[in-house]
Amino acid sequence: MEKKRVVVVGAGVSGLAACKHLLERGCRPTVFEADAALGGVWARAPACTKLQTPRPLYQYSDFPWPDSVAEVFPDHRQVVAYLDEYARHFGVLGCIRFGHRVVGMEFHGVGEREVDAWEEWAGNGQAFGSGDGEWRLSVASAADGHVETHKVDFVILCIGKFSGVPSIPTFPTGKGPEEFDGQVIHSMDYARMGPSKAKEMITGKRVTVVGYQKSALDIAAECAEVNGTAHPCTMVVRTKHWILPDFFAWGYDISKLYLNRFSELLIHKPGEGFLLSLLATFLTPLRWAFSKFAESYYSIPMKKYDMVPDHSLFEALAASVIASAPKDHYNRLEEGSIVLKKSKTFSFCKEGVLVEGEPSPIKSDIVIFGTGFKGDEKIKDMFTSEYFQSIVVGLTSTTVPLYRECIHPKIPQLAVIGYSESISNLYTSDIRAKWLVCFMDGGFKLPNVTAMQKDILEWDKYMKRYSGRYFRRSSIMILHNWYNDLLCRDMGCNPRRKKGFFAELFDVYGPSDYADLLPKKE
Ligand SMILES: Cc1cc2nc3c(=O)[nH]c(=O)nc-3n(C[C@H](O)[C@H](O)[C@H](O)COP(=O)(O)OP(=O)(O)OC[C@H]3O[C@@H](n4cnc5c(N)ncnc54)[C@H](O)[C@@H]3O)c2cc1C
Repeated sequence: MEKKRVVVVGAGVSGLAACKHLLERGCRPTVFEADAALGGVWARAPACTKLQTPRPLYQYSDFPWPDSVAEVFPDHRQVVAYLDEYARHFGVLGCIRFGHRVVGMEFHGVGEREVDAWEEWAGNGQAFGSGDGEWRLSVASAADGHVETHKVDFVILCIGKFSGVPSIPTFPTGKGPEEFDGQVIHSMDYARMGPSKAKEMITGKRVTVVGYQKSALDIAAECAEVNGTAHPCTMVVRTKHWILPDFFAWGYDISKLYLNRFSELLIHKPGEGFLLSLLATFLTPLRWAFSKFAESYYSIPMKKYDMVPDHSLFEALAASVIASAPKDHYNRLEEGSIVLKKSKTFSFCKEGVLVEGEPSPIKSDIVIFGTGFKGDEKIKDMFTSEYFQSIVVGLTSTTVPLYRECIHPKIPQLAVIGYSESISNLYTSDIRAKWLVCFMDGGFKLPNVTAMQKDILEWDKYMKRYSGRYFRRSSIMILHNWYNDLLCRDMGCNPRRKKGFFAELFDVYGPSDYADLLPKKE
């Protein structure tokens, strides 16, 4: 692998992990990072944004947080400092070319028809194929706009899902932002402003935030903190979500209901055998009871504001569409510094935003879209060829077709890390990067294309069964043990990493369980 030309695109949580594991195997990749700093979403976040995942789960398996960080949910500055330490410690920093955006990728040497007809991944099931094909990357420098071409044997896309390409609602003519006299921005612009400019912008202003997920909630919390009840922040909510103040329902740690091996016995798993399937069917009522138990607790503050979601907490967890409530969220609703307006649609007028059932507009000076990102489009846009663009994220009726959430069966010499979500995306990206690099180094072979496609279909069925309308989110949240076990077995490692039967069944697995995972080498 030492002589192979490998490029990692992106220096967020995932790109740093990919680079570290490559360095460990003697390969020195180039990491192209469009931004001037590492950390991805954490480098540009609203001032009050904190981890939602408890710190012990959001750490690299062999790099614990420093003792100086005592908070269970460190803020985004602490996350960046931790990532920076990691990058320095493992020599990743020296591989990063900041201010370099990959603006296009083309596969050369083998025609698309031939690639499409391959029965083995990359032609022979090996990471670098036969040596005939290579990627050509166009990389633009932020400093002078100069575009270089780089010839590469393998590309690892770590470009993230929650940044870059904003998802902005569309409006009929005469109903969009152009009608509004105030300012309209996306949460991404707000985060990029930095804390002091953002605070200056919202101070004394009537702010309307559209959306009810993490970024929207954080921005609303900041507005409420700055403006109090004098200028309440209005949140326009289309879909009600499970917004959890903590992870203890009636004092019981809900990770023990949803994230251990026992909880995985209660659901049907992709590729499971007859006995496991029977057990899952038999235990389904228990799963339902767990969910009702947790919902009965979390829905108490939600009921008061008619905000109990239409979908179950289990479905939200399966799809990773839960968010933790910023501190005092429900108190702010109570005091009136945040006001909720539920509406399936909305439009703009001169003075602000019109929502369903209200004759007069929500008078606003600033409207902020906390409406998320188009992660799919970002991946598609990386490819120059229409063929790769058309297959990389699959159809809208299927999940994103990545084998082991990482490798597209029909796209050679390329992998994606960081698309699929879990309780801790860092932990998932770390172990996935380890798996990928083990494969690249000849540690194991991939199954043929048909077998990979079959496996992807199993995961597609699983996502549709449990995540309902959110199946495209590609989440392994409630199956992270099952998924990690597959990676461990591929790498020739023992997936059982706890001491004792009960710990194995009821304790929640986390990054530290994989600290000494030693995949076999070629
Ligand atoms: C507000 C917020 C809170 C979150 N909280 C949690 C949490 O508590 N727990 C959790 O597990 N997850 C959380 N997440 C999800 C978070 O996205 C992941 O945890 C993780 O940080 C993703 O890392 P990444 O490296 O995959 O992607 P990113 O962090 O998005 O990094 C991608 C990097 O790629 C770069 N890039 C993109 N395109 C190009 C290109 N063409 N050329 C060069 N560089 C490029 C970007 O500049 C960026 O630095 C949160 C996300 C947000 C937005």
